[in-house]
Amino acid sequence: MSETIAAISTAPGEGGIGIVRVSGESSKEIMSRVMDNFPDNVKPRNAYFGKVTDGKEIIDEAIFIYMESPSSYTGEDMLEIQAHGSNVSLKKILRAVLNCGAYGIRIAEPGEFTKIAFLNGKMDLSQAEAVIDIIKAKTDLSLEIAESQIEGRLGNSIRKMRENLLDILAKMAVNIDYPDEDIDQVVNDEFVNQIRWVLLDVDELLDTASIGRIAREGIKIAIVGKPNVGKSSLMNALLGEGRVIVTDIPGTTRDTVEESVSLGGIPIVLIDTAGIRDTDDRVEKKGIEKTEQAIASADMVMLVIDRSSDLEDEDNRIIKFVEKMNGEKILVVLNKSDLGESIDEDTIKKKISGVTVVTTALTEKKSLEAALKVSEAVGKMFGIGNINPSESNIVTNERQIQMLKNASMNLSDAITMLQNGESIEIAELSVHYAYDSLGKIIGEEAGEEILNTVFSKFCLGK
Ligand code: GDP
Repeated sequence: MSETIAAISTAPGEGGIGIVRVSGESSKEIMSRVMDNFPDNVKPRNAYFGKVTDGKEIIDEAIFIYMESPSSYTGEDMLEIQAHGSNVSLKKILRAVLNCGAYGIRIAEPGEFTKIAFLNGKMDLSQAEAVIDIIKAKTDLSLEIAESQIEGRLGNSIRKMRENLLDILAKMAVNIDYPDEDIDQVVNDEFVNQIRWVLLDVDELLDTASIGRIAREGIKIAIVGKPNVGKSSLMNALLGEGRVIVTDIPGTTRDTVEESVSLGGIPIVLIDTAGIRDTDDRVEKKGIEKTEQAIASADMVMLVIDRSSDLEDEDNRIIKFVEKMNGEKILVVLNKSDLGESIDEDTIKKKISGVTVVTTALTEKKSLEAALKVSEAVGKMFGIGNINPSESNIVTNERQIQMLKNASMNLSDAITMLQNGESIEIAELSVHYAYDSLGKIIGEEAGEEILNTVFSKFCLGK
């Protein structure tokens, strides 16, 4: 008989309901010992109302659900005790479960329920990682991607790629065992072709990593511009709250302010900066250095310009500064359009090639409209409006990205070797490495170390 594990599965703190979860062969026996009015004929997946006891006293009232292997989350027999969400009573229930005298019961490690589910073939490793992503999702976009992964979409395409590689490996093995010198070149070309198809799939998946990273970490946006053009007002409009102090004294945003916000499901980190300007003021100088750092670490820059007056030296200095960036990652916000229109979009587009320009008025009445315009432009710049996470495969996970990169590199190597007339034997080794790397994504070739790293990221009770 194997061990049985138990843990409190709900978050600590007060809640309407709290759950103690048990998985393993002793589950039913535990139910019989901690349930005061244990029924004679327990039917799996039925809810039973009863009292939890530690053998001496009643701890709480609860709903007991017993699930029979293999029809449970872990694939083992399981028990869920749904009690009141009090920390004290849940701990008492867990203690009663652990001390009830059933065989081999112990407290679960973080992620162990999901690890058992993986080991029992209930899900592949990419699906298990999606479980963590769902738990930790902070935005609509990352949640949608995780939900699509938990359905096994990523695992399915990886399996398809591996099937193709296995086919290639089998043919290669035949050629190694029975080499026929006359047809070598033709055979090599055929292998190159087949490997290239798989490489295309791997690289296509890798290309989604940038969107995956955005979903996970957000787009880092540095808001820059000379003092008093409306940077703080823009940030507030995007945040929807008056969180940053807005003043009409130039140079008052002395330090950088970072705020996270979800715009249309896209996680965004906004960095409001002091203006870039020549100054002797030491405090402000520090702010300017921070602006430079903010620009360097940002995925994109929002350059705010006061549209109502002509470009000043200071604007031009900042334009010169940001123009070193890829123009496609610069959004120019021509603000204060309610006060005048001295600058038009074309002037800016001529100065910085590839930029997107929007015109705004960040007055009380128009700031919502401005925020929508700006966030729509950001979405377009990152191609986010076009993706549908439930229909496409997106990799978000650093470990998976690394494995895809390994596979891509090894497949490219194999192609180069075959094209250079190296022996199939050597190329076969690279294809094999690629096959193993892809396997690690779904957990097929994953050793204990990988599994421990993955599951240690889970919370207790999952
Ligand atoms: P920052 O120094 O660039 O952060 O500029 P602020 O956001 O602090 O704005 C400076 C001043 O300009 C404040 O009084 C704002 O209310 C005002 N302001 C900002 N945007 C606009 C706008 O589009 N139209 C008008 N009329 N005033 C604005």
